[in-house]
Amino acid sequence: MTQQTNLTLFNNIRIVLVNTSHPGNIGAAARAMKNMGLSRLTLVDPEDYPSLEAISRSVGAVDLLDDAEVVKDLKQAISGCIWVAGTSARLRTIEWPILEPGECVQQSLEHIGQGDIAIVFGRENSGLTNEEMEMCNALLHIPTNPDFSSLNVAAAVQIVCYEYRLALAGNKIKKHKGKKHRFDALADSTQLDGMYAHLHDALDYLGFFGTNNPDIVMRRLKGLFNRAATTQRELSIIRGICSAIQDKKRPRKQ
Ligand code: SAH
Repeated sequence: MTQQTNLTLFNNIRIVLVNTSHPGNIGAAARAMKNMGLSRLTLVDPEDYPSLEAISRSVGAVDLLDDAEVVKDLKQAISGCIWVAGTSARLRTIEWPILEPGECVQQSLEHIGQGDIAIVFGRENSGLTNEEMEMCNALLHIPTNPDFSSLNVAAAVQIVCYEYRLALAGNKIKKHKGKKHRFDALADSTQLDGMYAHLHDALDYLGFFGTNNPDIVMRRLKGLFNRAATTQRELSIIRGICSAIQDKKRPRKQ
């Protein structure tokens, strides 16, 4: 694969900023992206945007701001993505595979030939919510001084984009077009959402939740499917099982 072919993969990488409060950080993130050759910026419900401050901090990357997609929630931002990483300064208690930037970039590139991937950055004051992290396949943590682990969001964007630059346009160019042994396309976020709703309804029909909180059960199941990088064929089997459950008549209570 030539360097040029690898570079076209930049078009499949979305950088998503969630609910950013300082427009200057949006501009600085756009500049960081353009320096490294990335161009797809998605803004989820930015607090103060469009803004002159964003334009001034972007310096020559105003084109990225002009083309940025502005959406209302994370679900919309990652719609159609086949692999998503959430970034966090904190190491969370709920289980996600924790990846350093280089590992995360390599893992994402194993899937990239099959569709878009997204790297999601959180709010300046509170990061990403657990609900948002549940939409992610992995947690990207930039190793830092443990006593001072929170980077400025645009600095975090810079580090991740630099790793993509190294991976896709560095001297040691590797071929990236998805895992060779994969027979089946990965399910995207929209397909997964449909399956989760179906699974919830089937489990509910079975009376499976009982006294358990359905939200907590579903959260754990989403974690499982996210870690597995579920394929479309696997997803169809799960949906088939759900339909079979729903088609079964409930045994009469004696
Ligand atoms: N107080 C917040 C920090 C938010 S910093 C918290 O506890 O989560 C704003 C954003 O920058 C984070 O949501 C994340 O996207 C990114 N970020 C900052 N430091 C990071 C780190 N060490 N590793 C990965 N992402 C980081």
